[in-house]
Amino acid sequence: MRIILLGAPGAGKGTQCKNIVVQYGLLHLSSGDILRQERAQGTELGQKAQSYMDSGGLVPDEIIIEMMTKAIKGAPAAGFLLDGFPRTVNQAVELDKSLADNEMMIDFVLNLQVNDDVVAKRITGRRSCPECGAVYHIEHLKPKAEGICDNDGIELVQRPDDTPDVVANRLKTYHQQTEPLVDYYRKNGTVYDLDADRAPDEVRDLIFEKMDALVRT
Ligand code: AMP
Repeated sequence: MRIILLGAPGAGKGTQCKNIVVQYGLLHLSSGDILRQERAQGTELGQKAQSYMDSGGLVPDEIIIEMMTKAIKGAPAAGFLLDGFPRTVNQAVELDKSLADNEMMIDFVLNLQVNDDVVAKRITGRRSCPECGAVYHIEHLKPKAEGICDNDGIELVQRPDDTPDVVANRLKTYHQQTEPLVDYYRKNGTVYDLDADRAPDEVRDLIFEKMDALVRT
């Protein structure tokens, strides 16, 4: 299966991707995670991406397309789940071309729908462990000891782009540049809309229900 998970920042893509890859054995390819790794390692790509990421804007298409088409080549036969990529219509067109060159295509797109007020609250309350990557929320998913990761006792941090100003910009960028992708895929493929303004476990069940039905057909 080759799937894209679409949704605004904070729609729960990361959480649901973890659920999906465990259940269906797909490779999770998150453009944001790959970029953050590149930054942490101080690579040239990471340095180029830094200022765009910190302002909440998008990293230029040519950088992202090269990075992600390379990552996709390492996917297992079971397939992959794209998270955060594509994010512009141009990226989607280039992805489709690259897949077609290898006689592949995207099977379907899952579109997580949540309104802006909800995601803004979710993201600004998000805290993560710099060591193991576990994600918490200051109200909805508290660690056992405030500000400390349950897994390894490391102090939790806020992603630099999870602050209110940057989040407002990320949402603006999403509506202007990424939302048109939904129409692109409605015209060129199959999109399943899912109401993601619910508890994560409920969203997971909705996704599994949909995917199990698709696997059976
Ligand atoms: P994310 O973790 O998916 O929210 O991504 C964090 C940041 O990485 C975004 O705000 C962008 O600056 C950058 N980024 C991630 N994926 C892409 C993409 N497909 N195109 C351009 N920029 C991206």
